[in-house]
Amino acid sequence: MPRLYTNTDCPLHGSEYCARLHMESCDTCTVRGRDAEEMQLLKQDLDAIAAMMPEEGIDALFLTNECVLCKGEEKGARAWYAQTDIGNAEPRRKQVGFLGIKREARAGSILPIQLACCDACRKRYLMLQYVAPVTAAASIVLGFVLMSIRAIREPLMAITPALPAIVFLVLALGGILGGWLWRGALHKRYSKTTYLSIFRIDTLRRMKRLGWFELYETKDVSRLVFSKKPFRQGLYTGASGHGTADKPGEAAEFAEE
Ligand SMILES: [Zn+2]
Ligand SMILES: [Zn+2]
Repeated sequence: MPRLYTNTDCPLHGSEYCARLHMESCDTCTVRGRDAEEMQLLKQDLDAIAAMMPEEGIDALFLTNECVLCKGEEKGARAWYAQTDIGNAEPRRKQVGFLGIKREARAGSILPIQLACCDACRKRYLMLQYVAPVTAAASIVLGFVLMSIRAIREPLMAITPALPAIVFLVLALGGILGGWLWRGALHKRYSKTTYLSIFRIDTLRRMKRLGWFELYETKDVSRLVFSKKPFRQGLYTGASGHGTADKPGEAAEFAEE
């Protein structure tokens, strides 16, 4: 969707920089009111990020009616936007940490990512997120409730006074272990139909090689939030944000670093 940018005095007006920023309007634009020096730094950052982006951009990940998390030929219909942020160590900057010691920031760039996602894939991600903690919590609550019932607790105590506590512990540990095993089984099953790590998706796989990583890492599944609506604005959230990484000259330059 092309947007109408009203501030024709903006030095970025109509430029590729403006397209990459994809602001909602000139009034909310990050560029607004910047002096020439800040503008130069911003352009440098945008150029650095473009050099780490695939030439075709990333809009095919969300400007589509088909789920990009589905594996195989059959794709579910887009019902959600699965969203997260990814980071890249480039461009490197010194950041003053505790005690004034300079250390390198982990992420020099942060990029919002959104993926067309179907109902089934969203459900699988949510199941993997919640099945273990919910099972553990449910078994702890169950143990607590059972042991607070006199008709159950007192016969157990008659056998040995510590028995109610032992039964409670066994139930709680069983719930924790059971939830963990259940999650593992689901992960194995879901991974046949859904990309559970976003960097398995073709475009993102190439971006990983360009140094991008997940900011909120979990061991075997990407952390995503699901929204009915796409991002309103932000870097490369529009149709016309292109990268330069695939151009041979610049790709070679990048590889030397
Ligand atoms: Zn503008
Ligand atoms: Zn799907």
